[in-house]
Amino acid sequence: MAKGTFVRGVSWPLAAAGVLVVGNALWLAAGLVHVWNHPVIGWLALPVTALLAGHACWRVVRHPGLDSGTRRFWRHLTAACGLLTVGTIANSVDALGGALPSQRVGPVSLAFYLAVLGVVLWALLRLPSWERTRSDWTRFWLDTCMVLIAGIGLVWHFSLREHQQWIAQTGSAGAMLSLAVVGFLSVATFVKVAFAGAGRLDRRAIHLLAAGSAISAALGSLSPFLVSRPYLSSSMLAVPVAALSVHLAAARQLRTGASAPQARRRSRRVSIAPYVAVAVTSVLLLATPTADPRETVIMEVAAVLLIVVVVIRQIIAVLENNRLLGTVDRQLSDLRSYQDRLEHQATHDRLTSVANRALLERHVEELLTDQQVFHLVLLDVDDFKTVNDRLGHGTGDALLTLISARLTTTVGDLGLVARLGGDEFAVAVPARTDEGGETDIEALADRVLAALREPVDLMGSTLVTGTSVGLATSRAGDTSQELLRRADVAMYAAKAAGGGCWHWFDPALDRIADDTSRLSADLRHALADGQIFALFQPIVDLGTGATVGAEVLMRWRHPTRGLVPPDVFIPLAERNGSIIELGYWVLELACWQAATWQRRYGENAPAKISVNVSARQLAEVDFVDQVQDILCRTGVDASRLVLEVTETAVLTTDVAIEQLTRLRALRLRVALDDFGTGHSSLSLLLDYPVDVLKVDKSFVSGASAEGAGAIITKNLIGFINDFGMEAVTEGVETVDQAARLRLAGYRLAQGYLYGRPMTSDDFQQHFESSAKVALSA
Ligand code: C2E
Ligand code: CA
Ligand code: CA
Repeated sequence: MAKGTFVRGVSWPLAAAGVLVVGNALWLAAGLVHVWNHPVIGWLALPVTALLAGHACWRVVRHPGLDSGTRRFWRHLTAACGLLTVGTIANSVDALGGALPSQRVGPVSLAFYLAVLGVVLWALLRLPSWERTRSDWTRFWLDTCMVLIAGIGLVWHFSLREHQQWIAQTGSAGAMLSLAVVGFLSVATFVKVAFAGAGRLDRRAIHLLAAGSAISAALGSLSPFLVSRPYLSSSMLAVPVAALSVHLAAARQLRTGASAPQARRRSRRVSIAPYVAVAVTSVLLLATPTADPRETVIMEVAAVLLIVVVVIRQIIAVLENNRLLGTVDRQLSDLRSYQDRLEHQATHDRLTSVANRALLERHVEELLTDQQVFHLVLLDVDDFKTVNDRLGHGTGDALLTLISARLTTTVGDLGLVARLGGDEFAVAVPARTDEGGETDIEALADRVLAALREPVDLMGSTLVTGTSVGLATSRAGDTSQELLRRADVAMYAAKAAGGGCWHWFDPALDRIADDTSRLSADLRHALADGQIFALFQPIVDLGTGATVGAEVLMRWRHPTRGLVPPDVFIPLAERNGSIIELGYWVLELACWQAATWQRRYGENAPAKISVNVSARQLAEVDFVDQVQDILCRTGVDASRLVLEVTETAVLTTDVAIEQLTRLRALRLRVALDDFGTGHSSLSLLLDYPVDVLKVDKSFVSGASAEGAGAIITKNLIGFINDFGMEAVTEGVETVDQAARLRLAGYRLAQGYLYGRPMTSDDFQQHFESSAKVALSA
């Protein structure tokens, strides 16, 4: 129990104030039946309770934990209590100063009372309030108006009607008016505080103050009932009760200290205030005696005013609801269009705006569920990667957009066009059930191919793109994946046929595809299982016939299929990535071999060893480092190593060119393989970091070797010499061919005439005997 407290939480001054209020109530009650001779006794409690309340407020002001807003409020209340103390003393002088006791309220007392009122209202208004919207405030003030109108009606009905008597009783209209003002303003202000919050001011304290001021205003309005007893006054109870409520509120605030700020309560949009006000006013209107027309008019005016305010409030509510509904409507439609956009994004291709894979699959599933027969057309742009790599992704994207536009125009409403990703498109076309259905779709495929073959002018270059098309027809029990797979297999068949055409799916294709995927799987562990080995094919001097080098060629001996040709397994290895591992293996093997020859034959060792390098390997960022590492480990002279790359491998990326340049800086040599089979522009040779040209065997021993091939090889050597390069002719099979090439000016050759690819042992034998031949020649 804290020092100075009476019972738990109640201090001595508070107890004293309580005793005084009860005492005065008893004094007043007794005074109704008994005439008191010493009316001063009734007045004594007034300044004392006011002073005690002031003291309590002052103690709150001095509480250390309060925020400035709350402290200011209690400072104002302390001042108000001080003014009240003086006011009550002045009032008792008014009442007792005359020859006979009276209920007079003199101008000085009135001034003090009004000052008390002003200070309290000011204190309340300065309390911090919550954030409220303008319409919240409008509603609040309208509600307050209604409460006030009803309140005024009520007070008028029960006491102000007797205002003449009041004025006679208290000596002026002031007391009556100030009472009315206290009543209404305190109601309004306390409602405002309840509505808008009171910062950190204790909520219970606010309630105590509100209740106290309402009770004391009610007690004050009992004055007319005491007119026959001038030794009594309604203030004798009204003031101590008001003081006690302030005292209690202060005690409460002192106990809770600086309470947490009250959470803002959600404003109720529906208020019962208008209905209560209308009900009260209606009852009063009915209860007003009709005898006095003035009275009726006043009540009627109050009722009309009230109705006007209620109507305004309802109109505002309706307008606000409409506005809210409008906002909700707008938000809903925003939400809907956002959802539509999301849906479109999820089902359409960003670049070309046609349907995406997800939408196509959904569409196909729907057709399958409906048991509709339809064709799936799968398109893949030929050599798109080259366009992308050579002309940049911007041009690639522009080309795809154009292709998709042409495709959409050609297909029209015959089917759904979708981009599956990359350069792959698909069209689902419902099948005609009659005889000509199949030719129909073939005709469409022809039209599409023709449309896509039209030259395109893009960013300064004219492109002609071919497309490979696979056709498959839905079957009962299909899934979208299965159908797409069949169309894909058919498309690859079209590609294998050279591209630029369409191909129907055929079950035989499936077997090939199955076979390929099995082989691809086997290839992954072929190296580890020791199934990979290398052969060496001699490269000879056309003049002397001496072996001057070797090309290393990889072989795969499959456990069940026997030898798999490199033309079959190298593309597979490139596709499944095992070429990287195989490539390093063959490179290292070549280097060990070269090192062995170096040791064994010294200066006379084969001058060069050639190794094939695929595009995939050149794309590896650390390729050059790995090569360097192998050179280090094997100790071979870098200038003995030739890396053979194909045109497409070099053409594909700048990275490849950069890698080759770095390799040449290590004194390695680069050969351009199969020259003459690709785009083979001689002018491009200038830009490539190439030392050796390997003239493709089709010019030497192929079908055109005698005619055009011969002319080309004859002219080519001039350019090669001019560029300062070396040439190796491939596929020399006959003595005739060799003689012709030598005559044309070629120095080096490779071919079955000199030796097929052979084991390293065989190669050494061959080398030794060829060296003897060369020496003896
Ligand atoms: P390539 O680099 O053009 O190799 C020359 C091919 O021509 C070899 O075929 C060789 O056996 C063949 N050949 C040699 N002389 C004659 C001839 O007089 N007449 C005819 N008709 N053909 C001749 P092979 O060994 O079947 O290799 C085929 C292709 O596989 C190679 O063509 C090369 O592109 C690739 N390849 C082989 N080994 C490797 C390798 O280790 N790495 C990479 N990336 N590719 C390899
Ligand atoms: Ca080669
Ligand atoms: Ca070749």
